[in-house]
Amino acid sequence: MHLFTDNRSIGEYLLPLLAEGKTVGLVPTMGALHRGHLSLVNRALSENDVVVVSIFVNPTQFNDPNDFRRYPRNPEQDISILQDRMRGEDAVFHPPVEEIYPEPDTRTFDFGGLDRFMEGAYRPGHFNGVAQVVTRLFEILNPTRAYFGEKDFQQLAIIRHITKDLNIPVEIVACPIVREPDGLAMSSRNVLLTPDERKTAASISRALSRARAMRHKATLTEVKQWVTEQLSQLPDMEVEYFEIVDDRTLVPLSRWQKNKGTVGCIAVKLGKVRLIDNIRFS
Ligand code: AMP
Repeated sequence: MHLFTDNRSIGEYLLPLLAEGKTVGLVPTMGALHRGHLSLVNRALSENDVVVVSIFVNPTQFNDPNDFRRYPRNPEQDISILQDRMRGEDAVFHPPVEEIYPEPDTRTFDFGGLDRFMEGAYRPGHFNGVAQVVTRLFEILNPTRAYFGEKDFQQLAIIRHITKDLNIPVEIVACPIVREPDGLAMSSRNVLLTPDERKTAASISRALSRARAMRHKATLTEVKQWVTEQLSQLPDMEVEYFEIVDDRTLVPLSRWQKNKGTVGCIAVKLGKVRLIDNIRFS
């Protein structure tokens, strides 16, 4: 496995491989790797000749400076975890900020309305920063495929939208959410939870599963209310939103829809830690 920290070296490494017709699978991450990330890496390894895992805590996608400061970082451990499963031609790309942004990135993106609700509404500028870093990585690495987790459901829709809109020749591959044994969606931020908060956090996915089970017995509004009430009662838990949305437009629904995909998306603050999760209803 190779390790690169600058654009030019990794670009020069990949170019001949791509020219030979080899496929390159990119797994963009912010590091502090867990089994969720590794499921993307495994999928990429099984589908591509060469896999690149990027580790970059992207400053432009943090709307809260404290969140950026506190974000878990452990690149040495990440690299050693990857070393164990990656092959000779695979690579880790761990650039400093100046490599990705030699100058401040002033680009703004149009997400066709996909950013109107949920994360887009609660984290202003977040998706613009995500689009900045992902398009930069695509420019530098020219991947054949790029792997993203359904844990960040709105992000996935937005990345699909911009790659199509900007005609970027990359296949976006969606990977299912990986959970802890108690149901908590794996996240780099989980290590920031206190032991009590960590126990409470299991209630998020439990509430989502119960909500799905209620789908045929209750109205959409009742289900939304039930989830919000259940979770809001828990110590140090604040529900930012729980929306049940159309899986293509991401517009919140007010009643159940037939023959269309429906997903429930939630964001909570548990103490100081912000967590998101989602579940498919149909
Ligand atoms: P992050 O490092 O949090 O930016 O995540 C990097 C990629 O891993 C994103 O595409 C995430 O959606 C994905 N990811 C993070 N957590 C999980 C999880 N629990 N299951 C599946 N994918 C995940």
